Amino acid sequence: DHLGPTITVGEILVEIMATSVGEGFRQPIDLVGPFASGAPAIFTDQCARIGGSAAIVGAVGADDFGRLNVDRLARDGADVSAIAVDPTYPTGSAFVRYRADGTRDFVYNIATSAAARFGWSEAVETLVAKAGHLHVMGSALSMPSAVAVIDRAVRIVKERGGSLSFDPNLRKELKYDDDTERRFSELVAMADLLLPSGEELERAAGVAGREAAIDRLLSMGIPEIALKEGARGASVFTPGAEPLHVAAFAVPEVDPTGAGDCFGGAYVACRRLGSSIEEALTYACAAGARNVTVRGPMEGAGTRAELDAFIAATGRAGP
Ligand code: ATP
Ligand code: MG
Repeated sequence: DHLGPTITVGEILVEIMATSVGEGFRQPIDLVGPFASGAPAIFTDQCARIGGSAAIVGAVGADDFGRLNVDRLARDGADVSAIAVDPTYPTGSAFVRYRADGTRDFVYNIATSAAARFGWSEAVETLVAKAGHLHVMGSALSMPSAVAVIDRAVRIVKERGGSLSFDPNLRKELKYDDDTERRFSELVAMADLLLPSGEELERAAGVAGREAAIDRLLSMGIPEIALKEGARGASVFTPGAEPLHVAAFAVPEVDPTGAGDCFGGAYVACRRLGSSIEEALTYACAAGARNVTVRGPMEGAGTRAELDAFIAATGRAGP
């Protein structure tokens, strides 16, 4: 809308993947990458590719992994003016190998990399001052640098009439400190759009059961909930209206990483460009589905033309 770009804050990484399924990295194996990655970066890239105005606050190192990310985001139309280049620390990275059961082994270098080393700067100030929407990733809430920027940016964006979306994106097994729990609840309560998947719905609501959780969140005044349901598609809930469900597109899943972030990027971009919920939901499901057909966290993010072609060519899975 008229208020300015959609911004997000958090980790910018490269991902390097094992080409074989198996357990961990304890012997030499074939790897492929680097691929541009990081949940907020994937969101931003898809948001920009579909035609939304998008920018990310984060940091990379003064190295090729950093340049790969910045060049990629810029090429896809994102505003990279608030990506800091850390002179000392390398770009963050994640090595990943899928196990046979679909779970993953990781070796991360995030907390001790450039990815976690940024803060409020003149470039950030300038960007936030013109932002119309802030998208917060739950994964960023465990990074103090991101939290400092998010706390300040939420207030500024909301005060000037901008909107907020929140992807809880937390792992159930992780225990968060009281501060993080409180911030999580505040973000849920303030969100104009919530984008949970799986058990994040109940966690955000603080009650058990899908129906109860949705009722609770709507009665708290959250105007729109887009629930990501993986290979079962997605549903949107709004107060006083029937839920809208869209079946998933039937695709071979090559690499599930990034589906939720592409879904979010496309959904937020479409809604801010004036799409109906139904149209935004269709593009978002297409963006998530297309992304899982390609190896690499954001290699399947689609332009609007690519997603239109994908929608026209791809059948729906089940109900
Ligand atoms: P992530 O694993 O990135 O955290 P998520 O759990 O947040 O993802 P998902 O529900 O897995 O989100 O994926 C988002 C959307 O992408 C789904 O709602 C669906 O529309 C689409 N999608 C994901 N996986 C598949 C699949 N295997 N087949 C078809 N569509 C899919
Ligand atoms: Mg998710």
